Amino acid sequence: MLSPPGRRAALRAGAAAAVGLATACGSGRPATAPPTSSSAPPPGPGKPSAPARPAAAPRRFAGQPVEIGHGPRDRPRVALTFHGNGDPAIARSVLAEAERGGARITVLAIGTWLDDHPDMARRVLDGGHELGNHTQRHLAINDMPQDEAYAEITGCAQRLKRLTGSIGTWFRPSQTQNASPLVQKLAQRAGYPHVLSYDVDSLDFTSPGAAAVLRNVTGTIHGGSVVSLHFGYADTVDAMPPLLEELARRKLRAVTTTELLTP
Ligand SMILES: [Zn+2]
Repeated sequence: MLSPPGRRAALRAGAAAAVGLATACGSGRPATAPPTSSSAPPPGPGKPSAPARPAAAPRRFAGQPVEIGHGPRDRPRVALTFHGNGDPAIARSVLAEAERGGARITVLAIGTWLDDHPDMARRVLDGGHELGNHTQRHLAINDMPQDEAYAEITGCAQRLKRLTGSIGTWFRPSQTQNASPLVQKLAQRAGYPHVLSYDVDSLDFTSPGAAAVLRNVTGTIHGGSVVSLHFGYADTVDAMPPLLEELARRKLRAVTTTELLTP
């Protein structure tokens, strides 16, 4: 369980990171997966070991709208939510900083990221964090035809299900803060009673420097806030310790999104 990454693992991670970059920047995989050819092995990891913490299923929160942008304002809790993509070493650093600071976070994973780094699903859950669906390829989902948008949601859901036993507790649309009415409907059809938006944007993906990331969050965060952050950016790692210190100073607890919404 605790074996440090060896040379082979490091090499493998490097190769996987290169693949991840290629799929993130290029046109990605075909929209429709080709039928499994007789020579190709079945897609996905063959034998994922069960996570130590079983993944929870999505649930409906009474009194909440379909699209949730924040939790109750009268309680000193916030949810730090992360776009799950990019260099797994950065993802691991963010998770480690969260855990050092006593925070639980919500990770919305992109399907292709799970394909490249299937071990990250377990890493997130084993840390006591929450794992959700951020579409298969992170395209502009509100602009896609219905069938393609639905495939983006279910493609990631299938990978989460295979890796963790659950389609993930949350769905967040890609390349937009708000889901269109159609995407909301498709998410519900895929098994997510709610879609997860946010009310605080860290803008960490613009690499503005850790101090700016910190300012962007602490300038607007208050009880009930859902903060948008991203794996894959060094600024985010550097901003985590001072952010968690500031939240502690304000007596705001960083909890999972489910905890944020659970009375
Ligand atoms: Zn995203």
